Amino acid sequence: MTAMEYEAVIGLETHVQLKTATKMWCGCRNEYGAEPNTHVCPVCLGFPGALPVANERAMELTVLTGLLLNCRIPDRSQFERKNYFYPDSAKNYQITQLAQPSTVNGYVEFEMGDQVERVRINRAHLEEDVGKSFHFNQESGVDFNRGGVPLLEIVTEPDITSADMAYEYLNSLKAILEYGGISDCDMEKGMVRCDINISVRPVGETKLGEKVEIKNMNSFSGVRRALLYEIPRQIDAVRRGERIRQETRRWDDVAGSHRNHAHKRGCP
Ligand SMILES: [Zn+2]
Repeated sequence: MTAMEYEAVIGLETHVQLKTATKMWCGCRNEYGAEPNTHVCPVCLGFPGALPVANERAMELTVLTGLLLNCRIPDRSQFERKNYFYPDSAKNYQITQLAQPSTVNGYVEFEMGDQVERVRINRAHLEEDVGKSFHFNQESGVDFNRGGVPLLEIVTEPDITSADMAYEYLNSLKAILEYGGISDCDMEKGMVRCDINISVRPVGETKLGEKVEIKNMNSFSGVRRALLYEIPRQIDAVRRGERIRQETRRWDDVAGSHRNHAHKRGCP
């Protein structure tokens, strides 16, 4: 009897900062690298009574992204408040799109070897970025300049089957967003961040296995390395008869291994 073959089932959630002059719900500048807390106002700090006004350019860029990703653009979309406590969100909620996103059901096609691969896009929805925490010797600080910057969350279906395919998909997505003028996609400045959902299952099985989430990757090569580690780890575990526990892990790119990750990111 031959050993059972396993396959990886991978979905990616990519957060991309939009290239707008101002933030999503206020007139504060969307600019990287300014003095901390100089691009803030009652709206993006969530002061009581402050009313958000949607950034028209961000809405246009979201629809353009949907068209470039072959998505359907519903006639109507809706924003919701997602309430949670997190130190880098002064508002204690994030304005995001849950039930009625701006774009749905698209795909990205790209070449791999002599094949054309297709990854389906579940949705690209519009939300806002959170502030950035800094930890010093004795204390911590939060820079809210990034809080409220328009952020697209681009969610794939679980169509990705290997580390290389994830890497090629991300590079194709980045090229589309750069050429479309959607985002500068500067990885060094954290303009693109990625969450990975990964499970494994026997080849031929249609049910999804228990998934592990790896949060907040800030380089595509890091995504590839994390998957090259995680796919064989899960396959070895299920071969030994272990159950994969649903959990969130954090990839340590310097050490080249995972750590369990209790810390929850601001971005859903
Ligand atoms: Zn503001």
